[in-house]
Amino acid sequence: MTKGEFVYEGKAKRIYRTETPGVFWMEFKDDATAQNGLKRGTIGDKGIVNAEVTRRVFQHLAAQGVQTHLRGQAGERDLLVDGLEMLKLEVVMRNVAAGSLVKRLGIEEGRTFPQPIVEFYLKDDDLGDPLINDDHALALGLATQDELEQLKALGRTVNALLQDYFAAADLILVDFKLEFGRRGGEIVLGDEVTPDTCRLWDRETRAKLDKDRFRQDLGGVEEAYQEVLRRLVAAHA
Ligand code: C5P
Repeated sequence: MTKGEFVYEGKAKRIYRTETPGVFWMEFKDDATAQNGLKRGTIGDKGIVNAEVTRRVFQHLAAQGVQTHLRGQAGERDLLVDGLEMLKLEVVMRNVAAGSLVKRLGIEEGRTFPQPIVEFYLKDDDLGDPLINDDHALALGLATQDELEQLKALGRTVNALLQDYFAAADLILVDFKLEFGRRGGEIVLGDEVTPDTCRLWDRETRAKLDKDRFRQDLGGVEEAYQEVLRRLVAAHA
């Protein structure tokens, strides 16, 4: 497979065509942004770690029956993926209180919820990706009622699978964001699952091993990303 015409550049990835129609080349960048683009930087070799973490996670999910866009690997920071008609919403799953939820609801960070929380956000940088509910999603035509139910079910399934997957690496899956798209009549998992898009805490110390180290200037950012990959490789040989 060869990298063809440039299609799109996002905050963390570049997308190119390949010689196969419908198959795209996804290049993971070292660029990092936070606060909706206000804070910018680079995290050394982040693209390599994130491509490999996404490849491993998506392979695991596919083996458990979850449909994903992953087709293969093209380079150390490059994956091959199916083109999807992406939904303009993000699905966030939360197991432990952190991030925007702590601010929004005024609860303490670190509280474990009795059951996972599913949230939808509108994908719109200009608006800062606002939280929306099912009725907003329907009113904006982002998805059908049936698709919203599928997204919630898929979010819960992926969450249960990934809680175990990360627990084997002594990592607590605090929360994470998923993006889905349509392929034919099916809802398929797209985008990435990485320390950029998940909060991952060490099981013992609860040390943050994810993008919050960059967001909150905690230092040791590169080391945290490398540590997540190292643990996943060791736990899932
Ligand atoms: O910021 P917030 O607490 O709402 O984020 C919840 C989870 O979703 C975090 O794991 C964060 O990394 C992820 N997220 C993301 N992309 C966004 C918003 C949140 O990956 N645009």
